[in-house]
Amino acid sequence: MQLVSSQAKSINSSFKAEPITLSIIVAAYNEAEMLPLFHYELSKVLATLPNENIEILYINDGSEDQTWQVMQQLPAHHATIELINLSRNFGKEAAMTAGLDLAKGQSAILLDADLQDPPELIPQMLATWREGADVVNMKRKERLGESSLKKLSAHLYYRLLAQLSDVKIEKDVGDFRLLSRRVIDEIKNLPERNRYMKGIMAWPGFKQTVITFDRPERAAGETKWSFIQLVQLGLSGITSFSVRPLRIATWLGILVSASAFIFSLFVFIKALLLGDPVAGYPSLMLVQLWLGGVQLMAIGLLGEYVGRIFTETKQRPVYLVMENLSKKAQKAGIMHG
Ligand code: UDP
Ligand code: MG
Repeated sequence: MQLVSSQAKSINSSFKAEPITLSIIVAAYNEAEMLPLFHYELSKVLATLPNENIEILYINDGSEDQTWQVMQQLPAHHATIELINLSRNFGKEAAMTAGLDLAKGQSAILLDADLQDPPELIPQMLATWREGADVVNMKRKERLGESSLKKLSAHLYYRLLAQLSDVKIEKDVGDFRLLSRRVIDEIKNLPERNRYMKGIMAWPGFKQTVITFDRPERAAGETKWSFIQLVQLGLSGITSFSVRPLRIATWLGILVSASAFIFSLFVFIKALLLGDPVAGYPSLMLVQLWLGGVQLMAIGLLGEYVGRIFTETKQRPVYLVMENLSKKAQKAGIMHG
């Protein structure tokens, strides 16, 4: 019986395309300088996995340089290459969403194009997936070549996010992860337009594991994020996965009102007993400025959430694909067979 079924399988597979075990998703924005080196390093690692059927998805996120042309020159030595050209720059979160939507693998790994997510870790991630993990979170031990201000703010931000968010978002884990097919399918079902991928990838849950690694410096080119973009991404992370900041604003309001009430009693009684000499300019200014600041912040916070509702109700697609090219793998095994 066993023999027959395994024979049937092999006959089947010669007619049908072999299932893809792994999709490697790489979002690239203005990475013309970086891509050939990245592809070379990635191919070296894939050469050590000759028995895996792998596809690489390169997503050109509306680059202004030669990224798209460079992509088309990349050789498909050890994996099929899928090239996806978005119609403009939609941002990394949208580009990764496109990658997950189009990935055909039983698992997928998201990699940055700048070699900050070392491809050498792919075999270990695959092994962890084979042991039953659904999400392999790659946790950064050391961030090499980043300013201490960025390190500190990232450290504080990940902790704040973990405190505030309703989903357990693993600390110091970027977008570098492996996801299993069932997690990818759940993520594809999430309809939201504000796509904070670190939260979205944590949301489905399932079996989560962590591998730690030292994050190297960007190999060439420079970071694509400005300080303001990082702050926006950070805010998006918090507001997409928690309404707790709104509740904090409410509690702050209650606290301030209660203290104001006690203070007004104090002022009233003092005026009754001691009269009311005009004084207290500094304290008045202090209270006024502080309250004004808190109020503006609370309104701004409300605005963040209202803005998010606004983008969600418009229901616009997260990205648009302009071109889609495919290069079959030139694997030795496939060519001879
Ligand atoms: N990226 C993208 N779209 C953007 C900005 C960045 O696809 O609008 C890609 C970029 O090409 C790289 C990855 O996202 O592959 C990470 O970007 P970067 O290295 O600049 O971020 P950092 O490592 O500094 O956080
Ligand atoms: Mg980088």
